[in-house]
Amino acid sequence: MTDGKSLLSFVIYLLIAVLGAALGSFFNVVIDRVPRGKSIVNPPSHCTECGKQLPAWQNIPIYSYLAQKGRCKNCGAKIHWHHLVVELVTPLLFLILALLFGVENLAFWKFALMFGFLIPIFFIDAFHQLIPLVLSLPMLGLGLILSFAQSAFRFRDFFLVYFLPALMLFILLYALALAWEKVFKKEGLGGGDVILIPALAVYFGAVHIPFVILLASVLGMIYFLLFVRKANQVFAFGPFLALAGVLWALVGDVLLLSVGFGL
Ligand SMILES: [Zn+2]
Repeated sequence: MTDGKSLLSFVIYLLIAVLGAALGSFFNVVIDRVPRGKSIVNPPSHCTECGKQLPAWQNIPIYSYLAQKGRCKNCGAKIHWHHLVVELVTPLLFLILALLFGVENLAFWKFALMFGFLIPIFFIDAFHQLIPLVLSLPMLGLGLILSFAQSAFRFRDFFLVYFLPALMLFILLYALALAWEKVFKKEGLGGGDVILIPALAVYFGAVHIPFVILLASVLGMIYFLLFVRKANQVFAFGPFLALAGVLWALVGDVLLLSVGFGL
């Protein structure tokens, strides 16, 4: 840590870690409140059991949860473990992204933004079997803007690599969901997945998105075989799509390059 350059990158990584933990804390509010239709800004952070508002020093990411042993200081109610996990995982994932891509790379910002949607979606769908449109639609819209930028604002490249695959997936999945409902008289593919898969396509593009869907299906199948006892048990696919999206963003390029399939 002697020259200015390494000091600068140390400061950048430190900033990413601190901002990541703070964002993780915000994602926890999203996970708690969005599926219940509550505002994410009002009221300020409070215990969901006793309603006591949290002073700033009881609202420090990671530290507060550990210092209070996962309980509310006022009433002793248990704080759900997702609070600690999200506050740890978010900065960690952002740091790995920064190390892999470098903060000057647009890919870092694109995937960091995508993670910002996928982390809450993972937990909300796992807990409530629901992918809120207030998350999936902005994920899709902002992804389109960043992909256009990543295509150096060349409309033809953007259209062929990102827009058209996403649109085709949407049409295909929508038709499939409708057909399923007609034949089996119940929802097969969740409505949320019909938006989430095209949204992922917007971030990954035509080459990578088949691998993301394949990985999600493999992860989902493993989970199904290991943990789902009855065939008709409700089982959300969104968490596996979110997990596959995060994993593929980190290893996809390297994997494809290593088999001579680089782009
Ligand atoms: Zn409490």
